[in-house]
Amino acid sequence: MIVMKFGGSSVESAEALQRVAAIIASHNRRQPVVFVSAMGKTTNRLLEIASLAASGERSAALDKIAELRAFHFEHARLVCPDRELDALRTFLDDHFQELETLVKGLAAVGELTPRSTDAVSSFGERMSSYILALALRSAGLDAVHVDAREVMITDERHGEAAPLMGPTEERMREVVAPLVSEGAIPVMGGFIASTRKGVTSTLGRGGSDYSASLGAALLGAEEVQIWTDVDGVMTADPSIAPDAHRIRVMSFAEAAELAYFGARVLHPSTMAPAVDKDIPIRVLNSRRPEVEGTLIVAESLASGTVVKSIAYKEHITVVDIRSTRMLMAHGFLARIFEVFEKHATSVDMVTTSEVSVSLTVDRTDRLDAIVEELNAVAEVDRRNGRAIVCVVGEGIRKTPGVSAKIFSALGEIPVSMISLGASRLNVSFVVEENDLDETVRRLHATFFSEVDPQIFA
Ligand code: ASP
Ligand code: MG
Repeated sequence: MIVMKFGGSSVESAEALQRVAAIIASHNRRQPVVFVSAMGKTTNRLLEIASLAASGERSAALDKIAELRAFHFEHARLVCPDRELDALRTFLDDHFQELETLVKGLAAVGELTPRSTDAVSSFGERMSSYILALALRSAGLDAVHVDAREVMITDERHGEAAPLMGPTEERMREVVAPLVSEGAIPVMGGFIASTRKGVTSTLGRGGSDYSASLGAALLGAEEVQIWTDVDGVMTADPSIAPDAHRIRVMSFAEAAELAYFGARVLHPSTMAPAVDKDIPIRVLNSRRPEVEGTLIVAESLASGTVVKSIAYKEHITVVDIRSTRMLMAHGFLARIFEVFEKHATSVDMVTTSEVSVSLTVDRTDRLDAIVEELNAVAEVDRRNGRAIVCVVGEGIRKTPGVSAKIFSALGEIPVSMISLGASRLNVSFVVEENDLDETVRRLHATFFSEVDPQIFA
């Protein structure tokens, strides 16, 4: 059995859905279980609709619902078997009716909770999974739509709920595994789930990858395929470094590190279930299925290549906290982090000196309140418009001189918050956003002007 996950751009149109059907058909003998994201940018649209409604723009929200309906119907009808057209209409009617009712409710109360946001954003995957199953049946495959909310069970942290392994495994075994044994292809939405009480929840933005790898681990699949619209994981963002290479093989640890640091290909949680059960992950391009993609496995191949990839995360704010009296008094760092914790703002990087702490955050919606509280005990400055750059590779820890190479490549570009050693496989630091492209290009030229063809394409 294999798990195949298709991202939003892989199912953004009738044509894309047909391409996906052909890809699944070509893997049919490996007993695929399919997870799919919402079509195209549907999740963004749904979130827009929810916030319009909650801010009182009821008729704008309803107009956008009508557009979303037209979009889904337009593409779905082209991939739908003739005999199922009526069922498709009923399905979409029911779903858009339900969505409208929800959205009118939001407009009436004028408030958006994480729970109601989940209810609205779940519609994308609820519809895409149904529609992809239609496309597969049109292609002659025995596909069965499964509402993922009946299978994926989570805690109650709406917006970014954590799967409950016991109940989810049980449902996978009861609902999904028998379909596979009968030779059918289960098709489920990624991202969506429900709590034990049956309330709709989601795994957080980009969470379909996580649904797929978790499903694979719980079903005992032999491989997870993540189908996207790029050829695989790259040595750098090709829009910045046009000569970037595809990485042919990399380790789970490297892929996880890259995902955390903003390589947009995989959701950061994707690797954990695969590591547990040692299931290889393949990243593939649904527009160019003949490209072998990137294979992610437990061990990275030994080679002379030290660095695997250069990732970055933009729109970072650095917060500098200084206190000559207090800093190294015991409990001071704990108090600082308590403030961030209280405002549910997570901190990415931290560096400290005798009298100051610098840290980075990517969410700033609570930063005013955080700074106000910190001001009671320290001097606080913030610097917006920063980016974290992260050089990743298992070879880094074994190879002396990598950081020297990094910093000589950077030359006069101002760098702060250098962090090496916290993770054995990355060196990361902060630059100004204006210097980001130049930083990435210089590093890429330094580490990838010659590459090992076994590892890079
Ligand atoms: N559709 C969801 C999102 O856009 C989940 C996913 O695509 O992985 O975040
Ligand atoms: Mg994604």
